[in-house]
Amino acid sequence: MPIRLKLLGAAKEVGRAGLLLDVEGEQVLLDYGVSLKGNEPEFPLPVQPRNIRVSALSHAHLDHSGALPLLYVSARPPLLTTPLSLSLSELLIRDFMKLSKYYIPYELEELEKMKDHAVPLVYNEVYEAGELTFRMVDAGHIPGSSMIVLETPSFTIVYTGDYALHDTCLLRKGDSGAIAKADVLIMETTYAEFDHPPRDVVEKEFVSSLEEVLSAGGIVLIPAFAVGRAQEILCVLAKHGVSYPVYVDGMARRANELIAESIDLLRDPRLFEKALDMARSIEDWDDRKRALSSPGVIVSPAGMLKGGPSEYYMEKLMDDPRNAVFLVSFAIPETPARQVIETGVYSSATKKGIVKARVEWFDFSAHCGRSELEETIRLTKRSASIVLMHGEEGAEQVVYRYATESGRRAYAPSAGEWLEIEL
Ligand SMILES: [Zn+2]
Ligand SMILES: [Zn+2]
Repeated sequence: MPIRLKLLGAAKEVGRAGLLLDVEGEQVLLDYGVSLKGNEPEFPLPVQPRNIRVSALSHAHLDHSGALPLLYVSARPPLLTTPLSLSLSELLIRDFMKLSKYYIPYELEELEKMKDHAVPLVYNEVYEAGELTFRMVDAGHIPGSSMIVLETPSFTIVYTGDYALHDTCLLRKGDSGAIAKADVLIMETTYAEFDHPPRDVVEKEFVSSLEEVLSAGGIVLIPAFAVGRAQEILCVLAKHGVSYPVYVDGMARRANELIAESIDLLRDPRLFEKALDMARSIEDWDDRKRALSSPGVIVSPAGMLKGGPSEYYMEKLMDDPRNAVFLVSFAIPETPARQVIETGVYSSATKKGIVKARVEWFDFSAHCGRSELEETIRLTKRSASIVLMHGEEGAEQVVYRYATESGRRAYAPSAGEWLEIEL
């Protein structure tokens, strides 16, 4: 029996990941996220929630989780995910609902139902639904992130979600063991066009730039995603023993607490404890003023300078050339961060102008680079079928060529197209 598969989004694009599988007569939904590029969120293609036997969430980021509550308007499918992905996705979805209330076709009631129907799975714990067996394995992308492994008596499907095959300060690299068993591998391709520089080099450059600004009396703003990147940066600062005050603001504070509850998932729990001891949580406006009054480091969402307290800090710090803004997240087009990197101009609803503070970008990516994506292909069986998603068209093509040259069947489907794979 062939399997059928349809991308509901993240086809030749990054954002609103969603994937519908038709396996042994059962429908399975893997991830259901939103895209946050423009002013209005974009949702993935619709599904019929009543037909879904099982849904599963790879990790908390909104481009994978933001549309999931929609399923619970009219149905009650079980949602498989790790306990940490569940708590972190709730944090992010609640914030998303606050920020974009007019555009969201579900309410808190649906989010509550989603939580009620969640089936928390630790890594390698098995969930069975008829002939289908599900398992989550560590994806090495953010705390709690998973690859989803779906087995039947006759074949294995592996969905990587977002993943990395390199260690970071925060996380061990993803568990690539399941990839070798996959008959169908559905993989992300975000950074297929280049390799990330080695982590130790990035860290050294980052810390040396930081010391330069701080010792000359400046303040360094580090806009960072609340979940994942903020904690990675705090670990880097703790590891290198930065001697100036380090502040953390916005949703990153709550994310720190939730991640601390699952501290054993981290590569070096003691380093994270040290990072949390070092970081001072900003609780009110007096704290914010204090953070802006003397040399120090401020880690705050939003990573792309769109929303969150990082906007406030940016507007306070950008006019003084002693200060600096260190961008540590990928900046998608049409975001203030991307504009700052490309043109040196910052603009928001409340302020527009040339940034006089020093601007630098550091590649702290938590995704595979090109070599890791190629390594992934080499890990698969020669008979494996490879389905590409979660990358711009050019990126998907790079992996497509590599996979076909390596003798694998590869597919880069468009959104909404049913793909039939004969096994
Ligand atoms: Zn992600
Ligand atoms: Zn993603």
